[in-house]
Amino acid sequence: MTVAVLALQGAFIEHEHMLKKLGVDTIELRQASDMQKDFDGIILPGGESTVQGKLLRDLGMFEPLREKILSGVPVLATCAGMILLAQDIARQDDTYLATIPVTVRRNAYGRQLGSFHTEENVAGIGQVPMTFVRAPYVDALHSDTAGNKPEILSVVLDRIVGIRYKNQLAFAFHPELDTDTRIHESFIEMIHNYLQ
Ligand code: GLN
Repeated sequence: MTVAVLALQGAFIEHEHMLKKLGVDTIELRQASDMQKDFDGIILPGGESTVQGKLLRDLGMFEPLREKILSGVPVLATCAGMILLAQDIARQDDTYLATIPVTVRRNAYGRQLGSFHTEENVAGIGQVPMTFVRAPYVDALHSDTAGNKPEILSVVLDRIVGIRYKNQLAFAFHPELDTDTRIHESFIEMIHNYLQ
């Protein structure tokens, strides 16, 4: 199994370390030609979604990445990654990959709570440490054309911070910045199911 980590900007190394710890091979997605390589899962890391979105377009990676995701390759997105996947972004016209029918709100916790650490439940996993860094949250879930809505996996401070939609897992916090590996493990299990 090989997982491709989008490595244009942000906290991608931490995801690679976590996968290495779990014995999973990684490759980095840095340019259009990397999209032709063989991989079975994709990680979209935290960072700055506007920068990542622009680089994806400038480097010609945007369409091939979107096609991979729509073809069913499992995706784990954290923080800025969640913003890249959202179909709608509050107070912003630009959207990016737009493969999950949700509205997200960027930098959504205000100045006081710009960055914080907590522990909350993630459906199917249990209590998980959560590090939020100028994080988004999910403002609204929408139905796709088949009437399916994303599933809520986690709620913090009455705000949705974890969702699953088909092959895509998205979290507003940074599981790669804590030592708990269970979110990555559940992603690996998702890839195993996809490969069967
Ligand atoms: N604030 C960032 C954005 O809007 C996300 C922060 C993060 O990924 N830690 O893209």
